[in-house]
Amino acid sequence: MAKIAITTISAIFALITIITAAVAGVVSAVLGAANTASSQPSPAALADIPGNYLALYQQAAVTCPGLDWSVVAAVGKVETDHGRLNAPGVHGGANFAGAGGPMQFLQDTFDSVVAQHPPPPGGSIPPSRYNPHDAIYTAAAYLCDSGARDGRDLYGAIFTYNHADWYVRKVLDQADAYMAAQQHEQQTGWTVPTRGKCSSGFGPRGGEFHRGQDIAAPIGTPIVAAASGTVIDSGPASGYGLWVRVQHPGGVITTYGHNNRNIVQPGQQVQGGQPIAEVGNRGESTGPHLHFQIDKDAHAVDPVAFYERHPAPTLCP
Ligand SMILES: [Zn+2]
Repeated sequence: MAKIAITTISAIFALITIITAAVAGVVSAVLGAANTASSQPSPAALADIPGNYLALYQQAAVTCPGLDWSVVAAVGKVETDHGRLNAPGVHGGANFAGAGGPMQFLQDTFDSVVAQHPPPPGGSIPPSRYNPHDAIYTAAAYLCDSGARDGRDLYGAIFTYNHADWYVRKVLDQADAYMAAQQHEQQTGWTVPTRGKCSSGFGPRGGEFHRGQDIAAPIGTPIVAAASGTVIDSGPASGYGLWVRVQHPGGVITTYGHNNRNIVQPGQQVQGGQPIAEVGNRGESTGPHLHFQIDKDAHAVDPVAFYERHPAPTLCP
């Protein structure tokens, strides 16, 4: 009798676990799941990053949901070439700005992050910014607190690390190179940007060339980012009324035009599936719709064909 009861309880627990997992799956799918799994190192990453550093980047990134190890590694690369840079402040002392160690922490910043997030055992006692283990765990915690958690504002997090747009771009490009291509595709899986009816397609139209796919939908229908990336424009644009443009890895830019309202800011990191605007009828538009455009290396491509070639649902069923 007791055994039956226990079996039943286990079955119920198993069921709860399955339901919980299913709900979590749906939630993460809605939020743009892709970034929850961490990427694999590319051959370039394996060739460039010392083994002990690679392990530390990977272990440290796990402490921050949504932070990929490649970003932490990219910071380590840009700062000190993974501790190999022979310059003041890398192995002792400080550079002109007061930074020291492989992740180039100011002592005050390092101390305040460590006070909140003590690195796990394995480093120096007390923790030291010159110790790669302590420095890398602390860098991951610092990025996490600054916006990297759940991919909320990765751009802002890296900007906090070093207040320069060129720095953020350099880190993101490096992270991109460190991420294995196949994983990268999974991380940047594509999603349909709005629910509606495909109307005018890509190609010649009335003596002009229509550089996107139109999707008709009522004003106010949510528009989501088609894949994860960085918002590079959000505001008025000639012909498009109000637009949002998102930069994705691999020289791809998506444009969302005729919007009624935008809800993202330039510089913001967005996940695939994250709401960025609402369908409108602004600019050169003859009815409420989304003008969805994909540029690859500065040339517009057919979004329907692009979706067929990438991990994506059918854009226009
Ligand atoms: Zn259009």
